[in-house]
Amino acid sequence: MNFTPALIDQMHPLTLKGELSPEILGFNETTAKATKPIWAELLVVKEDEGNYLVTGWAQVPVSLTCGRCAEWFPMTLRAKVEHLFEAPVPNSIDLTPLIREDVLLELPLNAVCQLGANGRCPVTGEFYQPRPEASDSLVGEDVWEALSKLKTKD
Ligand SMILES: [Zn+2]
Repeated sequence: MNFTPALIDQMHPLTLKGELSPEILGFNETTAKATKPIWAELLVVKEDEGNYLVTGWAQVPVSLTCGRCAEWFPMTLRAKVEHLFEAPVPNSIDLTPLIREDVLLELPLNAVCQLGANGRCPVTGEFYQPRPEASDSLVGEDVWEALSKLKTKD
């Protein structure tokens, strides 16, 4: 997805809408895969100083492997796109690598499927305990335990 800055003037922003191949994401298909195209809707505005501002969003439905049950689960990555190209700009600007980066940043670091209210995994049907919260009392216990160890060394 690219645009030609010379064809855009300040009175007429350019709307870019279209699909990008999911292959640009470069997923390894073991932890993430995308089979449907990335859909992007962008607005290119020429600013006073000859800069170009591209804003909009891109989204793609993907499948990720759950870190808890190791099954595939669906998720939609939706990325905000905002890039400023400062003058002097090239004759043609390719937005594809930037959109790719924006979408990849939306990948969760620890992908897990959303458990039902009762802790049931929607994919496997198994029940899981809710994730233990790091509560103050637990932290406190650790501190006291560490302190008591220090004392016994004395
Ligand atoms: Zn799961």
